[in-house]
Amino acid sequence: MENNSKRHIAILGSTGSIGTQALEVIKANPNMFEVEVLTANNNADLLIEQSLEFNPNAVVIVNENLYVKVSEALESTEIKVFAGAGAVDQIVESDEIDIVLAAIVGYAGLRSTIAAIKANKQIALANKETLVVAGDLVTKLAEENGVNIFPVDSEHSAIFQCLVGEFSNPIEKIYLTASGGPFLGKSLDFLKTVTKKEALDHPNWDMGEKISIDSATLMNKGLEVIEAKWLFHLNPKQIEVVIHPQSIIHSIVQFEDGSMKCQMGLPDMKLPIQYALGYPKRIKSNFKRFDFLDYPNLSFQSADVKTFRNLALAFEALEKGGNMACIINAANEIVVDSFLRDKISFIEMPDIIEKCMSEIDFVEKPLYQDYVATDIATREMATALIRKQLKV
Ligand code: NDP
Repeated sequence: MENNSKRHIAILGSTGSIGTQALEVIKANPNMFEVEVLTANNNADLLIEQSLEFNPNAVVIVNENLYVKVSEALESTEIKVFAGAGAVDQIVESDEIDIVLAAIVGYAGLRSTIAAIKANKQIALANKETLVVAGDLVTKLAEENGVNIFPVDSEHSAIFQCLVGEFSNPIEKIYLTASGGPFLGKSLDFLKTVTKKEALDHPNWDMGEKISIDSATLMNKGLEVIEAKWLFHLNPKQIEVVIHPQSIIHSIVQFEDGSMKCQMGLPDMKLPIQYALGYPKRIKSNFKRFDFLDYPNLSFQSADVKTFRNLALAFEALEKGGNMACIINAANEIVVDSFLRDKISFIEMPDIIEKCMSEIDFVEKPLYQDYVATDIATREMATALIRKQLKV
C-alpha cells in the first residue's frame, strides 16, 4: 500500500471539521503520513493556508469561481491546482495516493468515493451518506476491487476496533450508542420552537453544521444504523440504538456466546480518524485520557422515537431496502438546509421526509443511475413541499 514508508493521504473535504482534525493527526505524525491531495468546496482561504503548511502535490477547489484565487495564491509553489467536482473524481486516481479520507459532507461525497474505490485506493470513510445512499453498490465495488473501507464515524470505528481479532466470530448484535443530542428528554411541544442556534449546540461533539442538526433530530443515528448494516453485513434486527448521554462508550458488539465488547474514551474525533489512517497500528498520542472518577455515572436509556421520528423513519428505510435510504438521505439534506436557513421549523423536518418516502417511486434493486435519479426527484419533491408550506 505504501510508496516509501509513509502513507500518502488524500483528504477530500480538508476544510471541514473532519478534514481539519485529520490534518492535526497528520501534523502530529510526520513520520507516518504525508498529505498528497487536499480538496475544498468554498473555503478557498483555508485551502490556501493548509496547502502552504502541508505542501500537497495537488489541490482541488470545487467552486470553479475560486480557481483563480487559489492558483494565484499558490503560484510560487509546485502545488498543482484544479477546479470543479469532476477534478475531485479524477485526482483520487493519482498513483501517489495510498488512502483517501472521504470527508465531504452529504451526497456530494458519493461520486469521489466510488472513483477512489475504482482506483483501488484504501478508504477512510467519514462520509456516511455514501453508504446510506448506495451501500449495496459501494460495498460490492469495494469487495471486487479488494479495497478496505475503514470507518471514521466514532461508533463504527468502535465496532471495528471491537472486531479486531474476532473477524471469524459471528456478531449476534451491535449496540450503537447515541448522545441524544442537545434536545434529549425534550417534548414535541418544546421542539416546536427550537432555533438553529440551539440545535447546533451539541453537548459533546464539535462538528459540521449538517451532522450537528442530524444529531439533534436523531437522523444522524438513523444514518449510522444504515451505515452499520453495510459495513458489518447486519440485518436490521441485529442493530439496536441506546442513548448514552456521556458519549464515553462509543459502541458495543455482542457475540454469540453473550459476551459484549465495547470501545471507550473521551469524545474526540481525532482518535477514530487516526485509527482509520494508521490501521492496524495504534499510534501513540497525547489525546486527553479518560478518568473514571470524572464520570461516576455512565447512564443508558432507550431512544424516544415517537418524539424524534427520524430514527424510526431510518429503521423503516432499512427494512424496505432498495432506494428508500437514498430517498431519506436526499429529503433529509434538503430539510436540514432549509432549517439552517430558517425556512422550516425543527418538527417539520420529519413530516417532509416521510412524505417523500411515501411518494417517490420505489426501486427494489437500484443501479447507480437509479440512485442519481432518486436523489434528483426527492430533492425536487422536498423543495416543492417546503415551497408549498411557505406558499411561495
Ligand atoms: P463540514 O461541513 O465541517 O465539512 C464538509 C467538507 O466538505 C468541507 O471541506 C466542505 O468544503 C466540503 N464540501 C461541502 N460540500 C461539498 C461539495 N458539494 N463538493 C465538495 N466538497 C464539499 O462537515 P464534517 O467534517 O462535520 O462532516 C464530513 C462528513 O463526515 C459528513 O458526512 C459527516 O456525517 C461525517 N462525520 C463527521 C463527524 C464530525 O465530527 N464532524 C463525525 C462522524 C462523521 P468547504 O468548507 O470548503 O465549503
